[in-house]
Formats: sequence, structure tokens, C-alpha cells
Amino acid sequence: MSEYYPASICINGHVMSDDHSNVQPYCSYCGEKVISTCPNCNAPIHGDERCDGIVVVGFTFKPDSYCYNCGNPYPWVQRIIDASKELLELDDDANQESIDLIVSSLPDLMVSSPKQEIAKAKFKKGLKSFTTFTKDSLKTVLTDVLSESIKRSLFES
Ligand SMILES: [Zn+2]
Ligand SMILES: [Zn+2]
Repeated sequence: MSEYYPASICINGHVMSDDHSNVQPYCSYCGEKVISTCPNCNAPIHGDERCDGIVVVGFTFKPDSYCYNCGNPYPWVQRIIDASKELLELDDDANQESIDLIVSSLPDLMVSSPKQEIAKAKFKKGLKSFTTFTKDSLKTVLTDVLSESIKRSLFES
């Protein structure tokens, strides 16, 4: 089993430390609360993987999307899902069915799984009914949580 350092991450997903817990109470970038444990089950959030004697160069730490202990999305993922929903609801052309299609596909798009292909299809079907403005804004909201290849396949017509 892998060993991990503890981490301190703000609820918007800004990493304050990938090898120490509770380094500071609030985020230096956005002022939000910094957490080191899952708000749902209190399991410590994983930081960098411990590699004894191995120096990994050029590796950027990326926070987990889901808690390994309880399976709930971490706050930074939940916020992106909530923000996407709010953005889609602002579009005058929006219908609830399309909003639901897109929002329900998001968790599967953020992690690689067999359901990712289905999620892509749902997302693209839902996205058809939105304006270019909404599409561009949604792409910006999701930019950090989707891989480049997923983004290309979702937003290129
Ligand atoms: Zn922050
Ligand atoms: Zn948890």
C-alpha cells in the first residue's frame, strides 16, 4: 500500500502544502478555509506519495477529487459541480433536462472509468441546447478538473 504525506488544501482546491497538515487556517490565494481531513468522514487528505529514496522531478501535485475513505467528492470538486449547474441555469435557452444531463455527467468525466464514454455522450447531448457564451464559460469553470483530451472531445464541434 502506498504511503502519503498529509496535505493542506483550501476548499477551492488551492494546495497550501502537499506534505504537511494544517499549515494555515485560511487560503493565501482566495481566503477560504484550509482543510487537511475529509469534511464528511475526517480521513486525512492525501498529499504527495512517499517515495523513499526516489526523487521525482517535475511532478506537480494534484489533489484527489474523491475521498478514498468515504467516496464523497472533496469540497473543491463539489464547488465546481455547483458552479457549473448555476452557470447553466443562467442561460435563457436552458431546459432542465439538458442541465441534468450535463451535471450528472461531470463526476464521471473527472476520473477515468468505463463510464467516461457514456458521460461524454451525455455531456455533448446536453451541451447542444446552450449558447456559445455558456459553453465557453463552462469550459473555463471545468478547465482544471478535466484532462486535455477530454476537453478537446467535449468542446470541439
Ligand atoms: Zn484558495
Ligand atoms: Zn471522506
